[in-house]
Amino acid sequence: MEQIYDVIVLGAGPAGLTAGLYAGRSRLNTLIIEKGQDGGQIAITNEIENYPGQQVEGESGPSLIARMTQQAEKFGAHRVSDVIKEVSLEGDVKKLTGNKGEYLAKAVIVATGAFPRPIGCENEGKYVGKGISFCATCDAAFFEDFEVYVVGGGDAAVEEAMYLTKFARKVTIIHRRDELRAAKSIQEKAFANPKLSFMWDTVVTKVGGDELLSWMVVKNTKTGEETLIEADDEDGMFGLFGFIGLLPSSKLFEGVLDMENGYLKTDENMHTNIPGVFAAGDIRQKSLRQVVTAAADGAIAAMQAEHYISNLT
Ligand code: NAP
Repeated sequence: MEQIYDVIVLGAGPAGLTAGLYAGRSRLNTLIIEKGQDGGQIAITNEIENYPGQQVEGESGPSLIARMTQQAEKFGAHRVSDVIKEVSLEGDVKKLTGNKGEYLAKAVIVATGAFPRPIGCENEGKYVGKGISFCATCDAAFFEDFEVYVVGGGDAAVEEAMYLTKFARKVTIIHRRDELRAAKSIQEKAFANPKLSFMWDTVVTKVGGDELLSWMVVKNTKTGEETLIEADDEDGMFGLFGFIGLLPSSKLFEGVLDMENGYLKTDENMHTNIPGVFAAGDIRQKSLRQVVTAAADGAIAAMQAEHYISNLT
């Protein structure tokens, strides 16, 4: 007979790993399924300075997530790497079907998170990995002494742009409005950074180059004027990083779980519309997407799953 886990946690970011930790610690037979690397958004975040108790100078997302993974494993959560293609969530036994097989559980915690929104310019797909990136932590070193442009005006864009100034010769933030959305404390640091400049009221409309990204067209959102930006002759290329928010990883649950703008709707105890199915972290419809709120969601979801399972006959 196929094994039936108590809980399957889908996704190993801060929400999923915290759910795994709490479920494992409650002696639930727990499986965490992740399709790629652990960490979700924080795996591609350079610096975490607002997670309570985190005071390690320069703590990076990957180092924090490595400790979360170890902690979930310490409490007995099993792990598998697989891409889930299909879900059947009604009834007392939930079934998740992946490339490697089927997984059964009494309860499921969806913690699939969100992924970076594409910049939205012409030819973007051709230059991802050839000049365009969505991860400063991963790719900053490739742009040592080059010029780099960052699209966006939120916390992520401004923080990652500052990180990129440690590598690039010059970093320019391209923002569609004339003021940043980022927290004031982050803005203050950015405006004081001599390697950082700003292109206001501007969007990128088209990118190009031979093999690597070497030109782009930007458009002024107020005047409509278009400008061609080309790489310095000696460089032959430049970097373009996109940090314009996130899109939910919820396609698998379309028509199955209630959503708003692609984010899963839950009550305050992380219950979705299907009994025994919970959602936690960035995938939820919520007001604040941070590591601390993801971790809190994961803890609540695991404890609610425990109550749900203990009430099953
Ligand atoms: P965000 O806060 O949603 O900001 C997205 C930025 O991209 C905004 O400035 C927005 O412009 C711009 N934008 C959106 N769509 C665009 C488009 N199609 N073209 C051009 N620009 C576009 O996203 P985020 O910065 O990725 O942050 C996501 C979440 O993570 C937020 O909750 C944030 O607070 C959190 N976060 C927190 C920290 C931290 O606390 N240290 C660090 C990183 C992220 P407008 O301003 O004009 O709307």
